[in-house]
Amino acid sequence: MLVTAPADQLLAGFQLAETRCNYCKITLQEGDPVSAYAVRYAGDDEWDVPRLYCHPCRATIEEPTLGATELLAEGRLGLTMDAAIQRTSLTLLGIERVIQSEPEDGRATL
Ligand SMILES: [Zn+2]
Repeated sequence: MLVTAPADQLLAGFQLAETRCNYCKITLQEGDPVSAYAVRYAGDDEWDVPRLYCHPCRATIEEPTLGATELLAEGRLGLTMDAAIQRTSLTLLGIERVIQSEPEDGRATL
């Protein structure tokens, strides 16, 4: 376990590439409550957030991936302004709860 900061600190402010619910494909907006699925593979320093879910579709990690640390973070979307490049991006804010699966969990059920 190489995580040196609490998961909510790692993911707070994470710039999201995908802003649609992975399940119902609704486009999520600033202020919407979301669940973000984050994964970091063994030997990798970087977190990836490949999937977002809207509140009604809030999912759980049903089949943990062996060799990966997976998180499901519940929070909301916020807009972060990068003044240097005059661009806003959707980020994760207000993370309230994080469900975590460790690499050695394999297929255990959370
Ligand atoms: Zn949805």
